[in-house]
Amino acid sequence: MSKIPYRFYLDEKDMPETWYNVRADMKVKCAPLINPATMKPVEKKDLTSVFCDELVDQELDETNRYIEIPEQVREFYKIYRPSPLIRAYNLERALGTPAKIYYKFEGNNTSGSHKLNSAAAQAYYAKKEGMTSLTTETGAGQWGTALAMACAYFGIDLTVYMVKSSFEQKPYRKAVMNTFGADIIPSPSDTTEVGRAILKNHPGTSGSLGCAISEAVEKAVSTKNCRYVLGSVLNQVLLHQSVIGLESKMAMEKLDEYPDIVIGCAGGGSNLGGLMSAFMQDRLLGKTHPYFIAVEPASCPSLTRGKFAYDFCDTGHITPLAKMYTLGSDFIPSPNHAGGLRYHGMSPVLSQLYHDGYIDKAVAVKQTDVFKAATFFAKYETILPAPESSHAIYAAIEEAKKCKESGEAKTILFGLTGTGYFDMAAYISYQEGTMNDYIPTDEDLQRSFDMLPKVDA
Ligand SMILES: *Cc1c(COP(=O)(O)O)cnc(C)c1O
Repeated sequence: MSKIPYRFYLDEKDMPETWYNVRADMKVKCAPLINPATMKPVEKKDLTSVFCDELVDQELDETNRYIEIPEQVREFYKIYRPSPLIRAYNLERALGTPAKIYYKFEGNNTSGSHKLNSAAAQAYYAKKEGMTSLTTETGAGQWGTALAMACAYFGIDLTVYMVKSSFEQKPYRKAVMNTFGADIIPSPSDTTEVGRAILKNHPGTSGSLGCAISEAVEKAVSTKNCRYVLGSVLNQVLLHQSVIGLESKMAMEKLDEYPDIVIGCAGGGSNLGGLMSAFMQDRLLGKTHPYFIAVEPASCPSLTRGKFAYDFCDTGHITPLAKMYTLGSDFIPSPNHAGGLRYHGMSPVLSQLYHDGYIDKAVAVKQTDVFKAATFFAKYETILPAPESSHAIYAAIEEAKKCKESGEAKTILFGLTGTGYFDMAAYISYQEGTMNDYIPTDEDLQRSFDMLPKVDA
């Protein structure tokens, strides 16, 4: 039998031509989005002032299993896809585990993460529908960078509201986005009503994704031919990210492999949703039974300590209500170094699947443990991982160690969502021993749970 290569690439001709919509196969569908003005389920017309029409259709679609990837988006994907499926031989050896560890590496593009998969789709539809500009928010900067690249490619202007703590920590991110022509504003800012209100109520705040979302939405709805786009959480984003799992599954089939365990870090849920969807379909249809693990930061533990309830997707309370695991939209997590995982809620799809037991386990990990795993991984696999991705690495290592104890040769697949080149301040803080492991208290969480909107649905 031929040895499985270290890096396996699908042929370009084998790249998926459709995204996969896992909602079509879910037994229990997600609760509908609710319009906070009427407290009724959201309809298409409620969303089209904020989002592009075709993206609204995708957002509300829970019946079409496969949705065509437009030709021009596929052409863009070909610039950096298919992404490699890597067999972690060196990590396996270092751990002395009988487990077979694979990871799908999404950091091989200039934005450095998987976010480009959805950015390309969203910029394409905006251009097609005659928009001249887009607004968005960015936490750690990966999404803003990805969208700046996609907007430059499809020829559309972009304003990015960047969470203030990241704006200050990551000047190089700003420079990259500026290179692609985007306009960057630290959030909260005085350029929007909601920003001014947040500054008044929380002076000196370091900002949060929720605040930045509110600002970007306000800007989009008050600007002509402008729409808002979001890099995670939404159903449409999970749909676009399904390309990760479709490629992984096809690559593993060609290698005569199939995962026993699928692991992803979970911020808003898009990479995990995208990686696991194709495998989740097998499980939903009763074909196979892979075990799914979501990994989140202990500082922002929405699945492990949040409530499954209707909540706003943003701090400014202008978005629809979504039923999801949430820490409360008023929860502002302590600034940590996995900025891409600092979001109060979780994708409604992931939330429902977790609630119904299809996602088997969620774990919350401390920052220093994550960087320990990141450093170990970097040494053996020679890739400097993003702090977000390193949450998944941590869990994969834990599972591989369990295999060592039990002697089982399980096949583990995890998502390596990005590189850590823009996170060197975080690595320095870990190396110097100044990194803290702030974990919110139950009282901290209760304060924001008390503010959850009351919905009887
Ligand atoms: C944004 C980001 C994440 C988390 O977002 P999800 O929507 O949960 O995938 C994870 N890893 C990287 C590198 C990111 O940029």
